[in-house]
Amino acid sequence: MKVFIATKNLKKLEELSRILVPMGFEVICEKDLDSPLEEIEETGTTFEENAILKAKAGLLRTGYMSVADDSGICVDYLDGAPGIYSARYSGGHGNDEKNNLKILKELEGVPMEKRTAYYVAAIACVFPDGREFTVRGECHGHIAFEEKGTNGFGYDPLFISEIGCFGLVSAEEKDKVSHRGRALIKFREELLKYIEE
Ligand code: IMP
Repeated sequence: MKVFIATKNLKKLEELSRILVPMGFEVICEKDLDSPLEEIEETGTTFEENAILKAKAGLLRTGYMSVADDSGICVDYLDGAPGIYSARYSGGHGNDEKNNLKILKELEGVPMEKRTAYYVAAIACVFPDGREFTVRGECHGHIAFEEKGTNGFGYDPLFISEIGCFGLVSAEEKDKVSHRGRALIKFREELLKYIEE
């Protein structure tokens, strides 16, 4: 069975392919299309809604069962911000350095016990017959007082998890506890139910 992974992010593509290929799926991605994937307006109010929007756009474009992910970080002291706006928190899309500085500034003077935060990853799967499902993974921790390390991406140099700062741990260590790692485990379990039906 063919599955389209609706993402421009090569890391997400690789992680989802690692699950889907051993399950027997033939993975189709942006590079297999004759023109680039359109940018999707993320108009949802939750990670799940945005993941579904991206997956549905993939289904519309290809006609194949489609999978997409939406993720971000929620800081409790900031009432859950940046949340679904994580990629564009400081304005333009995906400026990690500016995003991290913005969070540090907003948490200036806030003690460690009030710097709790959690990453969220929602993965959506939509089928040509109209069925759809989402799964969610979370990873809880704290926002550091300064950036640490250069591993990972995005907010990782600021995020202190149970295994330490994500900017300092290896990709394999991060995958074991991360929001995306947890969502991928649930995704595999849920998908098995759908393809067995
Ligand atoms: P998306 O591509 O629209 O899902 O946006 C995800 C954004 O959330 C990224 O640009 C990062 O800023 C942030 N983010 C999500 N997952 C992670 C992670 O594992 N590490 C660091 N930042 C992340």
